[in-house]
Amino acid sequence: MKETVTNELITEVGTMKRDHYQMIINGQRVESVANEVMDTYNPAKGEKLATVAKATREDAEKAVQAARESFDHGKWRRWPVGRRARVMNKIAEIMRDRFKELVEMEVLNSGKSVGAAIAQINQAVEDFEFYAGAIVGHRGTVNNMPYGFFNYTHKEPVGVCAQIIPWNYPVMMAAWKIAPAIAAGCSVVVKPASLTPVTAILINEICHEAGVPEGVVNTIPGSGAVVGDYLVEHEDVDKVAFTGSTPIGKDIMAKASGTLKRITLELGGKSPNIVFEDADIDAAVAGSLFGIYFNTGQSCEARSRMFVHESIYDKYLEKFVEKTKKLNLGDPFDKATHVGSIISREQLEIIDGYVNSAVEDGATVLTGGEELTIEGHENGHWYAPTVIVDVTPDMAAVREEIFGPVVVVEKFSDEKDVVARANDSRYGLAAAIWTTDQGRATRVSHQLEAGVVMVNSPFSAFPGTPFGGYKESGIGRELAVESLDLYMEDKSVLSYYGSKPINPFGV
Ligand code: NAP
Ligand code: MG
Repeated sequence: MKETVTNELITEVGTMKRDHYQMIINGQRVESVANEVMDTYNPAKGEKLATVAKATREDAEKAVQAARESFDHGKWRRWPVGRRARVMNKIAEIMRDRFKELVEMEVLNSGKSVGAAIAQINQAVEDFEFYAGAIVGHRGTVNNMPYGFFNYTHKEPVGVCAQIIPWNYPVMMAAWKIAPAIAAGCSVVVKPASLTPVTAILINEICHEAGVPEGVVNTIPGSGAVVGDYLVEHEDVDKVAFTGSTPIGKDIMAKASGTLKRITLELGGKSPNIVFEDADIDAAVAGSLFGIYFNTGQSCEARSRMFVHESIYDKYLEKFVEKTKKLNLGDPFDKATHVGSIISREQLEIIDGYVNSAVEDGATVLTGGEELTIEGHENGHWYAPTVIVDVTPDMAAVREEIFGPVVVVEKFSDEKDVVARANDSRYGLAAAIWTTDQGRATRVSHQLEAGVVMVNSPFSAFPGTPFGGYKESGIGRELAVESLDLYMEDKSVLSYYGSKPINPFGV
């Protein structure tokens, strides 16, 4: 097996780029039936990257029918799991072979730093390996029954799954969705975000290269409002897995109810980051910087509400602001770049709007709070890492997901109070705590209303750790063994083997 790939791999930029990317339906690279095309951009430079075939409802219909046919009559779900697992390990191997292309296109299409892209694509590779292993050991149960009866559960794939993914982690979200679904034996139609369609197409190509039969994985870039909606309401789609904003998640849940589809929703967050008085301050500063500025803050589990104990507040904040100012923004392909660009002009304006409204309401910006111009990237979308203090709990910047490199900081004096304030949110995706007191770490972890709690850790997710939210942050868990069950039905098979025939009616 190849070693984990590092930055050294990326030498010349642009060598892997195509001018045009086709969608993939039933194992074929195809144009849209209506010949519709959309432009995709490099947000770091604000320039056109390539054209992409744009799906209409007609294309979505073809993709659903290809998935349906492969599920109902194809071989993928009928193969022994070991054979499916072998193909999934092959996907991982080809992803490593094509790593340079994946990293390059991910950075060019999303504007994220090369370091972030490499970490995320390495994780995506490991997701396929993880589920290749997990499915082999995934099994049903044999249950206690009265004498003569025998009952077991048989795990069966749920069917055709629509998988709608966002722009913040294009490769990683594709892997989080496709890997457990195909491991389970499902067939999928992937709808990438309109802003970042390229790498999902590449992952689909790789699936075929590895031996996934035609129709099992289909990718249709196109408008969420048009094809996304169509997939969610389609009678031949059995499940929808969605990652994105909470309002669209609610809309999907309502629309999926018409056909009682299974749903997995991974939605927004406003995650607290609590620094207790007994924290290792340097570790807390380093981890909290990563917690908010990683992926330019465009992360559902960005730790965007920082609570700092009053006894260390000044000392901690001084270090945090000083290090925030030291972060490098610039050419995303430069290894020294910590923070990449914002995905789009619209997103940058949303971020700036939240900062301005906080200031109008009396908050103070300690650093950042403005758009940046980056040399060589003058038309790109860049925003300075921003620290805001003097906030009140009712401000929009404190309550709503900003999805940018902006952290609001509050002071607290006791544990009970900070837990209540941390939980005072309609979201409940993640939370981080910084403390050297093991008792407190356990106590507070159990009191926080969040699907993921990090204790003294900047990282929130590895293949195998369940990831998902409480409250309005979603339904279901991804990335872990239990995610397989979200792509499966448990069939209970009940048999009678007793020696005497049963005659319940006695007639
Ligand atoms: P979004 O609108 O929720 O989009 C996510 C995905 O859903 C995209 O593929 C999108 O397609 C699709 N979609 C849009 N409308 C749909 C509909 N009616 N039916 C089915 N699918 C639909 O998110 P966004 O507009 O990209 O970002 C807006 C905000 O969402 C961000 O500011 C952030 O707060 C949040 N967000 C959260 C996450 C997360 O990981 N939890 C990720 C991304 C964004 P199109 O791309 O064609 O619209
Ligand atoms: Mg949207």
